[in-house]
Amino acid sequence: MRIRRLKLSGFKSFVEPSELRIEPGLTGVVGPNGCGKSNLLEAIRWVMGEGSPKSLRGGGMDDVIFAGTATRPPRDFAEVSILIERNRTDDGGLSGESEVTRRIERGAGSAYRLDGRDVRAKDVSLLFADAATGAHSPALVSQGKVGSIIAAKPTERRLLLEEAAGISGLHARRKDAEQK
Ligand code: ATP
Ligand code: MG
Repeated sequence: MRIRRLKLSGFKSFVEPSELRIEPGLTGVVGPNGCGKSNLLEAIRWVMGEGSPKSLRGGGMDDVIFAGTATRPPRDFAEVSILIERNRTDDGGLSGESEVTRRIERGAGSAYRLDGRDVRAKDVSLLFADAATGAHSPALVSQGKVGSIIAAKPTERRLLLEEAAGISGLHARRKDAEQK
C-alpha cells in the first residue's frame, strides 16, 4: 500500500485546504521548527484511525481542529483524506485506488468515509491492519518513540513484530468473528 496524496483542511496548523502529492521513492519534509512537519505525520496517523489525543499532542480530540491565531478565527471542523494505492500481492488480492477521509466537528466527534461512503472506524482500522500499516504501525516512529521501543517488554515487542509482519489484521478479524 502506498499513500499517493494527502489532503488537509482545518487540521492543526493546516487551516487552509492543502494538498500534497507523494511521489514514488523517498520523501523528505523539511522546514523550520514549528512549521508543521510533525502535524503532517499526525494527520496521516489520525486519518488511519488514531484514537488517542495524547499521541497527537493534544488534550482532547477537538485539539486537532485549527484553534485560531491572533489574526484568524478558529475553525469548527477538521478534515483529512489520504489517497491510497493498493498492490495485489501485498494487500490481500486487492488493487486500485481508494480515498479514506476522516472529519471531526467541534463537540460532535468524528466520522470516516471510504470512497465517499460512510464507514465505521473498525472498517478503516481493518483496511490498514491488512496492509501492515495504520495509526499504530511500527512504520510510523514519532519523536520520542525510539526510546519506548527499546524499553518495551517482550510481549509489547511481539505486538510490534506482528504488526510489522502484517498478521495483526488476522488477529483483529479473529477477534471480530469471535464476538459475533
Ligand atoms: P519541529 O521542527 O520543532 O519538530 P514541526 O515542523 O514538526 O517542528 P509541528 O509540531 O508540526 O512543527 O507544528 C507546530 C505548530 O502547529 C505550532 O505552531 C502550533 O501552534 C501549531 N498547532 C498545533 N495544533 C494546532 C491547532 N489545533 N491550531 C492551530 N495551530 C496548531
Ligand atoms: Mg516535529
